[in-house]
Amino acid sequence: MVNKTIPFTYEQLLKIIERYPTPFHIYDEKSMLENVRNFKKAFSWNKGFKEYFAVKATPNPYILKLLHKEGFGTDCSSLPELMLSEKAGITGEEIMFTSNDTPAAEYKKAAELGAIINLDDISHIPFLEKITGIPKVISFRYNPGKLRKGNFIIGHPEESKYGFTKAQLFEGFKMVRQKGAKRFGLHTFVASNELHAQYFIDTANMLFDLAIELQNTLGIKLEFVNLSGGIGIPYRPEDKPVDLVCIGKGIERLYRKKIATAGLAPLKIFMECGRMITGPYGYLVSRVLHIKDIYKKYIGLDACMANLMRPALYKAYHHITVLNKKRNTPEETVDVTGSLCENNDKFAIDRKLPKIKIGDIIVIHDTGAHGHAMGFNYNGKLRSAELLLRKNGQVIPIRRAENVQDYFRTLDFKKLDEFRP
Ligand SMILES: *Cc1c(COP(=O)(O)O)cnc(C)c1O
Repeated sequence: MVNKTIPFTYEQLLKIIERYPTPFHIYDEKSMLENVRNFKKAFSWNKGFKEYFAVKATPNPYILKLLHKEGFGTDCSSLPELMLSEKAGITGEEIMFTSNDTPAAEYKKAAELGAIINLDDISHIPFLEKITGIPKVISFRYNPGKLRKGNFIIGHPEESKYGFTKAQLFEGFKMVRQKGAKRFGLHTFVASNELHAQYFIDTANMLFDLAIELQNTLGIKLEFVNLSGGIGIPYRPEDKPVDLVCIGKGIERLYRKKIATAGLAPLKIFMECGRMITGPYGYLVSRVLHIKDIYKKYIGLDACMANLMRPALYKAYHHITVLNKKRNTPEETVDVTGSLCENNDKFAIDRKLPKIKIGDIIVIHDTGAHGHAMGFNYNGKLRSAELLLRKNGQVIPIRRAENVQDYFRTLDFKKLDEFRP
């Protein structure tokens, strides 16, 4: 069970809305940093532990800068993400470049920044060699196939497009060593939004076994294993948060038993979580525009799925709080919708909520990761602003809302006037 609270009062929120019209995402710095510190503490036993924040979850340079101050690097997967990381002052081996189907220009930029390059496929070894040469430090992404079960969001490993097979890993490490690589890492990403601590311990176990096998067969001593992201968050009030201490302890136990015993210590543990770092600390704030009563009752917001795709994309649950209700007891069952011309533009279906009236403020929880980031412009919808609630209670804009000029920026209307159909 988690208590779905919000980090501001109704009166505070009204003041914020006066300056920044709805809809917007607002991120709670204080709670985010508390969680970051707990996360680091759970792995403090591992000297080289480092989290590379998955930029795609919340690609905002202010957030990256906040997290960098806590010692986090970035996990990038595209050229713009690499550039964003650079703008936030994060370069070199503080960047893990984990991409797939990678264009040459992206490898070039990653190499220029001195990022750790994590290859998705064995064929990328000669591809990368042609562009930048084989770097001194290199990592491979492992796809365990039928050996591991995935979950709903990411699918089964044997049907996923990512990574090397086991045989390819061994062949690949031999190849890059021959081509001059000196430092080696191993990466895997097999589950998304996973709430069971044991899953991550099992993943570490799998990589530890591979590390031992690599040493025994090839004499390669890994410098790091990257357990990647996928730690889930309790979107539903009845969900249990992942026990980070339990993951840390479980992995430490295996480390002592396997890695230390095999003489492979020190082995750095890397992670690249996104969701659990920012997800629970973001809120989409919106206002009720319309209420319609037909075969069902619909609460129409001024936000839409352009601001938060997850419910439409994954049928994901996001908790909803209606502000300023004396008794926040459910009284009616409604669908909460956006304005897109798509019937799946719904933040909630058959949700029991207090009785809502036009103008009410609705807060949608857990939008800090894969929320604003997944925004799009279909149907001419514009992406919202992002605000940061600082530790001292101050609210600062960290991204303005898009306007119509932004939407038209890629069109040339002068040429249109000259265009003769
Ligand atoms: C998406 C992604 C992550 C982050 O996943 P979360 O579920 O947000 O923790 C990490 N690594 C890679 C390679 C990813 O694609």
